[in-house]
Amino acid sequence: MTPSWTEIIRAKRDGKELVAGDLVAFASAAGRGEIPDEQISAFCMAVYFRGMTPGETAAFAGAMRDSGRVVDFGDGPTPVDKHSTGGVGDKVSLALAPLVAACGLRVPMIAGRGLGHTGGTIDKLAAIPGFRTDLSVDQFRRVVNDTGCAIAAQSAEIAPADGRLYAIRDVTATVESVPLIVASILSKKCAEGARALVMDVKCGGGAFMKSREEAGLLAHALIDAGRELGLPVRAILTDMTQPLGRAVGNALEVAEAFAMFDGAAPDDLVEVTMELAAHMLVAGGAERDTGEARARARRAIDDGSARKTAAAWIAAQGGDARVLDDASLLPRAAVVRDVNASRDGAVSSIDAFAIGLAAVELGAGRATLGGRVDPSVGFVLAKKVGDRVRAGEAIGTVHAANDDDAGRAAKRLAGAVSIAEREVSPPALILGAIDA
Ligand code: URA
Repeated sequence: MTPSWTEIIRAKRDGKELVAGDLVAFASAAGRGEIPDEQISAFCMAVYFRGMTPGETAAFAGAMRDSGRVVDFGDGPTPVDKHSTGGVGDKVSLALAPLVAACGLRVPMIAGRGLGHTGGTIDKLAAIPGFRTDLSVDQFRRVVNDTGCAIAAQSAEIAPADGRLYAIRDVTATVESVPLIVASILSKKCAEGARALVMDVKCGGGAFMKSREEAGLLAHALIDAGRELGLPVRAILTDMTQPLGRAVGNALEVAEAFAMFDGAAPDDLVEVTMELAAHMLVAGGAERDTGEARARARRAIDDGSARKTAAAWIAAQGGDARVLDDASLLPRAAVVRDVNASRDGAVSSIDAFAIGLAAVELGAGRATLGGRVDPSVGFVLAKKVGDRVRAGEAIGTVHAANDDDAGRAAKRLAGAVSIAEREVSPPALILGAIDA
């Protein structure tokens, strides 16, 4: 007999190992909406403090996957996906999915909303006029097969248990837990029908894993649980000590991501995107090595095929594909204010965590369950770590709904950017790769 939810929570609170059957019962009831928010919160907090064994983690991920349908893409180009463990300014998926699709693979991507201080792909896409992320499984499959890629939200059909837990973790300080992150990600990725997964494991102050050691542990946990679930995972560790690219905030990030197709995206964003594209092409069997794969991805950008795929994909999900050429069609904030440097020097650090929290405070993320997101607000950094700056020169711009918010956010941005007298080197971006 399955114990009560209270008994399951108590057992985890007391550090006991849960049996697979109880995890399956908990995940499927959570997916059906039968467990109240407070018990899911308590369960997540107990897991946060007590952790899970590798066996529990894989069982819970499988149970969350099975809380909904599992898509099967059948024969044809390998369905391959990428997922990030979460960062600030991480808009990679928006250009990466059509880029890899343009290179011949299928990219079925079930993505998340903002989580804690990090942004979410689904919130970013919602900034595109008309774009729908609430696809049924049949629509999702059709868009992938017709255009090469689709990005949809987890739904009542796909990994509904993750939908519940994700939203609750977002507002209960229970995000930074290896088993919960692994179960959340792999449940979606197994359910969406991917046959190979490239993980972008973010590492640094703006990530959930702050140190290289923690990021490595998360990478290994993802690879191990993936193996148990039959999904080959390779993990790329990337820097998240400062925001990726320059834009933080939903519409601002969409514009920056699509600038990739014009050769106008920031170098760090391009580098991470190309690295992940190369690993996806190899993982999906389209190329033999990452050098060839990079060259192929480069060609898809240069010959316009990635942009063409992006236009078809955006239109297939109901979005206005003209945003690819005209960023002014995206929502725009009422107040735009520069923040200036107080002294001469070189930017020595940009606190990505502080910027992420400030973006949520501006309205780019949720502070409460079901809270509304303002697609127009956020920051654009004029300087990145290592850049020289003069006193009075802009270090960044705040995009806000009103003057009060802009004033508060300007202070937060100024406080997040440190300037030193000495020369500073930018941080290494690609920190390593871990393969099964
Ligand atoms: N991405 C997810 O989908 N889930 C997490 O828990 C963290 C990042």
